[in-house]
Amino acid sequence: MKHAALWVILLAMPVRPASVPHNSRPSPSTQYPQFADNSEVRAALAWFARNLAWINEQQSRLTEIPAPSFQEAQRAAAVKLLLASSGLEVQIDKTGNVIGELRGANEKEIVVLSAHLDTVFPPSTEIKVRREGDRLVAPGISDNGTGLAALIAIARACHEAHIKPRRTILFVADVGEEGEGNLRGMRALIEAYKPKLKAVIVLDGSGTDHVTTKALASRRLEATITGPGGHSWSDFGMPNPINALVRASVRFINTKVPVAPRTTFNIGQIEGGTSVNSIPYEAKLKVDIRSESEDELTKLESALRDCIAAGVRDEMESSRDRTKGKLEWKVELLGSRPGGELPANSALLAALRSADEFVGNQSRVERSSTDANVPLAHGIDAISIGAGGTGGGAHSLQEWYEPAGREMGLKRALLTLLGVSGLAEEKAR
Ligand SMILES: [Zn+2]
Repeated sequence: MKHAALWVILLAMPVRPASVPHNSRPSPSTQYPQFADNSEVRAALAWFARNLAWINEQQSRLTEIPAPSFQEAQRAAAVKLLLASSGLEVQIDKTGNVIGELRGANEKEIVVLSAHLDTVFPPSTEIKVRREGDRLVAPGISDNGTGLAALIAIARACHEAHIKPRRTILFVADVGEEGEGNLRGMRALIEAYKPKLKAVIVLDGSGTDHVTTKALASRRLEATITGPGGHSWSDFGMPNPINALVRASVRFINTKVPVAPRTTFNIGQIEGGTSVNSIPYEAKLKVDIRSESEDELTKLESALRDCIAAGVRDEMESSRDRTKGKLEWKVELLGSRPGGELPANSALLAALRSADEFVGNQSRVERSSTDANVPLAHGIDAISIGAGGTGGGAHSLQEWYEPAGREMGLKRALLTLLGVSGLAEEKAR
């Protein structure tokens, strides 16, 4: 019984173009036995269990290749080789995305399976995967070592099992998901393929407990305050950009934000000054703001501007010597991630639910900020899911991954993918 829903998804979409509208849930099927016998799908699912050690190895190897946002090229080259050895036609686009194509019977329609290449760790971070009991420990091992390992494993399983999809599948390792990468890899991908793109499945991190269908809107802002600068003793009393920034920050962190719609802010970086005995000529602060509501986001952005302006004003008013110049300030948008939401009746979500049912998994719907924001903002069906196993400490030096349970995550992702790509044709039995 639990297989039935999956067959429905796999069969309702393929073969007969236009018979099933993209967004409607297919009607009950009598084709269950045919798909149950699909030996290619069975072979692909079975491939994972036999190759778990190989998948762990690829994950460790890729994790150890540094890939800070904007410096993903070396890791991209390694992923390109792995995808090419799985029989895909692979290219690296202008932005740096690795794109491996598995041509479908219908080349006019495309489904993307993606995992981001980049990490939040600066190039100087030492990355050596070490084992602690059953755990692999290293910065980036889970986010997104797990996603990349799954991308490669699923491509290889499809290849070894001779899967022929109906829609073309692009296996994509994309750049610029983290921080100031501002989703540039996914933006370029959507730009290039939008007219043909039917669904995007993003593999990000570990776990099988969630499916992100709601894109959390966010903005990243940088405030800069500049002044004349001077000597700590002889110029005492001059307006000080760090003082102004501190005054502004205290105001900003006292901003009231609603619990619902959930709205958050974080001062994530602060810098300025040149030495302890100099009045600085510059101070900067980076802020990340997120909200379930675009309106709240806009309010919070203007609150930040108001606070910076007020901090500068307070500092100017309290400075004893304004003759040597005054403070200037600006707030710049470093990046913004658009919001969006997958329709509850989408074929993609139905495929995921069927896959969950098939592997005996339960997952909750989540709102988050991921690569899926970009397609969702364009009205293209997209989800972000974990790629199995468990992980923790994301974005920290103590990040870890435990592969137990990975197989379920891989099966879930593969079945969801095939659920939306469909199969080229059913063999006559
Ligand atoms: Zn990630």
